[in-house]
Amino acid sequence: MFIDTHTHLYSSKFSEDRPAVMERARAAGVDLAILPAVDRSSHEDMLALEAAYPDWVLAMIGLHPVSVGENYEEELAVVEKYLQQRPWVAIGEIGMDLYWDKTFRDQQVKAFLKQCAWAIDYDLPICIHAREAIDELLELIRGVNNPKLRGVFHCFTGNVAQARQAVDLGFYLGMGGVATFKNGGLEPVLLELPRERILLETDAPYLAPVPKRGKRNETAYVKFVAEKIATLWETSPEEVGRLTSQNAWQLFELDRFAKPDCPWWGLRPPVKDAINE
Ligand SMILES: [Zn+2]
Repeated sequence: MFIDTHTHLYSSKFSEDRPAVMERARAAGVDLAILPAVDRSSHEDMLALEAAYPDWVLAMIGLHPVSVGENYEEELAVVEKYLQQRPWVAIGEIGMDLYWDKTFRDQQVKAFLKQCAWAIDYDLPICIHAREAIDELLELIRGVNNPKLRGVFHCFTGNVAQARQAVDLGFYLGMGGVATFKNGGLEPVLLELPRERILLETDAPYLAPVPKRGKRNETAYVKFVAEKIATLWETSPEEVGRLTSQNAWQLFELDRFAKPDCPWWGLRPPVKDAINE
């Protein structure tokens, strides 16, 4: 019923009990988990997890802005190699993070733009990490000025005006734990922006939703995010799952990976009437 569109299930935070975490996610109704890449220190762990759960997990590839440092060109070369090797669900997570450290701000911009260019070349969506940098990233996307550039602002934490700009540029908004926080500020975004552009995510092991706030997050908790959104939308968590899964299907073009025997086959959007397209 749910797609967790952003979860670091390969993180060492899960090394003690990963099979149980995966089991709880399945039991909570998560039919597909999408893994964002960080850097070469974890690419192999991510790919091993994907190989271990081939019907249930899909990996992105990319360089996380917090991992952009002196050696970012070497890191990007690794990403480029992976891109050439096989199909990927998206390029991510990429973007800017000006919260922790601004030392490599220029390099973050260069790495982001390089990966946007690849996304256009490979015709892939991007998954954006934007911390204290939403306006900068919107500006960079406008500068790229290519309608093929599309993706999601993962863990969106901006205001309605920023959300509108993102949506107008063809982007989706990833909603996770922050959407459940009293002071998260996302209620107006969820009420005013088109539901067709909302995706569910956890960003596990980070940012656990209420009522698990402050604890280690895990993919099963995506249901708490769905419950919160269902309350706002005056519908059921199942309906939120159905709609957001179709949104994810659309953005990530999951037809590319879907097989009738995979657990998430049932989440695909209804086939549109060709005449109306
Ligand atoms: Zn992440």
